[in-house]
Amino acid sequence: MSLSLIAKSIKPSPTLKLNEKFSILKEKGEPVIHLGGGEPKSKAPIDAMLSAIAHINTGEVRYAPADGIPALKQAIIRYTEEFYERKVKPENVIASSGAKQAIMVALQAILNPQEEVIFPAPYWVSYPDMIRLIGALPVPVLPEDGSFYPSIKDITDRVGSYTKAIIINSPNNPTGVMYSEDFIAEVVEFCEKKDIWLIMDDIYHRLVFDGKKPANCYKYAKKLDDSSKIILINGVSKQYAMTGYRIGWAIGNRKVIEAMSNIQGHQTSGPSIILQKAAVGALNGIQSSIESLRTTLENNRNVMISLLKSFNGVRVTKPDGTFYCFADFSAYEKDSNKLSEFLIDKVQVLTVPGKEFGLDGYLRLSYCGTIKDIQEGIERIKWALDPNSPNELYIGDRKLVRDWS
Ligand code: PMP
Repeated sequence: MSLSLIAKSIKPSPTLKLNEKFSILKEKGEPVIHLGGGEPKSKAPIDAMLSAIAHINTGEVRYAPADGIPALKQAIIRYTEEFYERKVKPENVIASSGAKQAIMVALQAILNPQEEVIFPAPYWVSYPDMIRLIGALPVPVLPEDGSFYPSIKDITDRVGSYTKAIIINSPNNPTGVMYSEDFIAEVVEFCEKKDIWLIMDDIYHRLVFDGKKPANCYKYAKKLDDSSKIILINGVSKQYAMTGYRIGWAIGNRKVIEAMSNIQGHQTSGPSIILQKAAVGALNGIQSSIESLRTTLENNRNVMISLLKSFNGVRVTKPDGTFYCFADFSAYEKDSNKLSEFLIDKVQVLTVPGKEFGLDGYLRLSYCGTIKDIQEGIERIKWALDPNSPNELYIGDRKLVRDWS
């Protein structure tokens, strides 16, 4: 079939594929445990739901401005003022169908084919393919010291004449680590000096633990006018548990936001007004759900980390935020795809192979589910991998027998 070169270069999203596998098994009544999830299990804030319903009830659900309705832009402006201490104007804001579309239209607005985008590895699975969709080239950078914390030298060593942008995601999917203030300051300073675009993907921004605070990129920026090349990404998906509402946003200079709005206008005519209204409700309503989600996740992280630490052969860096941890299972199996498949087949626990995030030998384990799932999931993994485990394991009344060594 004569598909385009770009279409042929794009792989299906591995996390979506895994979710499909999970749904099929679940439908069959299998006792599957999902440690691969990318969304909180809590409900959307009541103000979000009421706001969407009120708009539906008007009976007049129409097109909206492609870059977002004024009320949503105002709510985003307030959010930016409160959490980034930066006053922006409506023309510096675009609301998109999820942070994903905000990043995609940003990349489309700034990249030409063959130009390069640098980002630290392990990285969010979608970055490389989003960049390839434009015909540009992803340049993932693994920290040289073997940690999940890149140094500015790791980044600058890869910068060349084709480098157009750097993407930084902190707190990070998949590792959960939060990059230091010093690192963010150095990246901002470097990008300003070299006139490189800096996309700050802050989608997990307030889901941080141990009293820590995420770095505010604007604190270190000297160019805060229309020459600013920082594009700040955020949204309601993770912090407000509103993944299905598909509302994210970007803050940037007037020209880039205008270009992004033009592109988005031709793509989707902007996000649905119902969902924008829901996001306004979430951003302007009672905020207690965020703190309650954050503390639940912190507790879940503690449980998962202590279980993993009791597991000989697994190495794990304690996450500072998000709802993921990225654990090194290479002592058991170096091929993470193989390991992930083994675990779903043998003990019905869904994990995401590290290879998809640019680092083989690791698995991404999510702690956004219930404590029961975390405990049982890790227990099953341990049973499957530890050669000293008893020969049998009961899942409910189902008996599993080891037929592997
Ligand atoms: N950036 C990162 C790092 C993510 O993990 C995700 C979602 N998994 C997104 C962006 C996209 O968020 P949204 O669902 O709002 O499109």
